[in-house]
Amino acid sequence: MNYSPDIFLNNLAQTTDTPYLITVEKAEGVYLYAPDGKRYIDMISGIGVSNIGHRHPKVVEAIKQQLDRHLHVMVYGEFIQHTPNALAQKLTSLLPAALNCCYFVNSGTEANEGALKLAKRYTGRMEIISCKKSYHGSTHGSLSVSGNEVKKQAFRPLLPDVRFIEFNNADDLNLITTETACVIMETIQGDAGVRIPGKAYMKALRKRCNETGTLLILDEIQCGMGRTGTLFAFEQFNIIPDILTIGKAFGGGLPIGAFIADKKKMQCLTHNPPLGHITTFGGNPVCCASALATLTVIEEENLLATVEAKGKLLESLLTHPAIKEIRRIGLMFAIDFDSAERVNAIVEEAKTQGVICYWFLSHPNSFRIAPPLTITNEQIEESCRVMLKAIDNS
Ligand code: PMP
Repeated sequence: MNYSPDIFLNNLAQTTDTPYLITVEKAEGVYLYAPDGKRYIDMISGIGVSNIGHRHPKVVEAIKQQLDRHLHVMVYGEFIQHTPNALAQKLTSLLPAALNCCYFVNSGTEANEGALKLAKRYTGRMEIISCKKSYHGSTHGSLSVSGNEVKKQAFRPLLPDVRFIEFNNADDLNLITTETACVIMETIQGDAGVRIPGKAYMKALRKRCNETGTLLILDEIQCGMGRTGTLFAFEQFNIIPDILTIGKAFGGGLPIGAFIADKKKMQCLTHNPPLGHITTFGGNPVCCASALATLTVIEEENLLATVEAKGKLLESLLTHPAIKEIRRIGLMFAIDFDSAERVNAIVEEAKTQGVICYWFLSHPNSFRIAPPLTITNEQIEESCRVMLKAIDNS
């Protein structure tokens, strides 16, 4: 085994000077194991990915079966393959009728890139509206519509004609006009520190988009797949997006994303020009097998039914005078403190004590918790004991 920190730090590109640096030998359920046998409870699900836990046996089995049939055989969109077909059938059966056509891609950011292209192409308009403090990915298009100015500054020029409105502020909806191709919005803002919009706001947003012929793209890459207690967060707001983007937990641990729309809209990428969005690996059959098994597990294990109760339990146990605020929907939490230094100290101390919690990209005063939905009450109690101790010691 090669667990050399030297190789990791020098021969693998680094994204920060302070990587989290635990060494992983295996992962199972809510646990990660280091080669020395140390066990960690993963309270962040690999950042919103392992919603059904690590290496769920049904997912591993589905992947193995696909490995025995075939791996990649052709670029996206040309050959009929059982597994992508079965996944598209299953996923659309779980979505409103208007979201009936899936384009499978490789990541969250690519799902958003595809969605933005589709909106421009369908409406013939250029302007895109996004939200302040949003995060939609790290490639040029997704970065252009993300709110974090510090992250964007060094990479300009980015996409032109992008305007930002304040999330959950109804007055700003007037900035959506007949010039606007699309609004792209996280249904629940994740990296801004779990921001939950009001129902009336979401209804007004949908109405304004309808009035102006603007497509509504809801990014559920982080908040989808049961995280908030419903399979998709938009279900809780009684609205339906024109385009839905998903990724992360969708693949059950393998890389896959999707943008999903009505077939009539999606057709725009088929004509003038044809091949309006193309991808070699999108809809990779092994990733599709993993995603299909993940959806089946969520359903068969009735995981959505217990999300709210587990979220409530976790919230009630995390009581400490140093906590300024907790924002929560389902099992998606931001825990606010008075400083980023305090948060850093807590995250480091919890790691030492065997619990993985983590920071947010754009909200340094909070740490995040988003455990696998399969976590048990006992595991919640154990992790809360450790996190409270970490807060005490920080
Ligand atoms: N949208 C949201 C809401 C996200 O949280 C993320 C990832 N944190 C992305 C898009 C980008 O996904 P990926 O990293 O798979 O490109």
